[in-house]
Amino acid sequence: MRLRNIPGSREAIAKNHWCIQEPEKIKGNWRQVFGNNHPIHIEIGMGKGRFLMALAKENPLINYIGIEKYSSVLLRALQKMEEEPLENIRFIRMDAESITNIFQKGEVGKIYLNFSDPWPKDRHAKRRLTSRQFFSRYHAILQQEGHVEFKTDNQDLFDFSLEEVKEAGWKLNGHTRDLHQDHVMNKGNIMTEYEERFSAMGNPIFKLIASR
Ligand code: SAM
Repeated sequence: MRLRNIPGSREAIAKNHWCIQEPEKIKGNWRQVFGNNHPIHIEIGMGKGRFLMALAKENPLINYIGIEKYSSVLLRALQKMEEEPLENIRFIRMDAESITNIFQKGEVGKIYLNFSDPWPKDRHAKRRLTSRQFFSRYHAILQQEGHVEFKTDNQDLFDFSLEEVKEAGWKLNGHTRDLHQDHVMNKGNIMTEYEERFSAMGNPIFKLIASR
């Protein structure tokens, strides 16, 4: 998701209560940010944050961190938080490539990836959030029993991701090529903004869950 650059968005983010500045300094101490010992789940590429905010509202005993690369997109999430503040959610503006600088081993319980950018050119494969390079980063921050949940409407990206789960030495706990028709995998599903848009166009939604 790329929105028109909004002048002043970087400055607005820098002053926002829910947006963590210098997150590298918090590595290993995320529990202190939330002031409790609840598990920490993250979404990488959370866009305007609708999915994460709905999850946070449903699960007050889980802490959520949304990671987004672009300040103009993140600003939309922060504006929603002003209207409806949630104490179990924080945001970071960063490229997830350096995620191992932010969390220490075992600090994250679950990683959500929703409608991640496909990076269709082969030479950009390692930028895909479900590449083996990213699975190795996830390995470095997840709890032993932690897992990754990935949704997309992009068949090529999904096929690639299934291969990468195997290549990375991870296990596939479940997968479906039509989430909304799969009663087991769809139980409790929260639609993301892109999911609503693409399923309204008739595209099936793919989902996989992977763990070590
Ligand atoms: N997850 C939302 C949804 O399903 O509605 C937004 C999907 S949008 C296609 C992908 C988002 O991921 C964009 O907002 C983009 O800026 C962000 N993104 C892509 N690569 C990223 C990265 N390496 N680190 C952080 N954010 C990233």
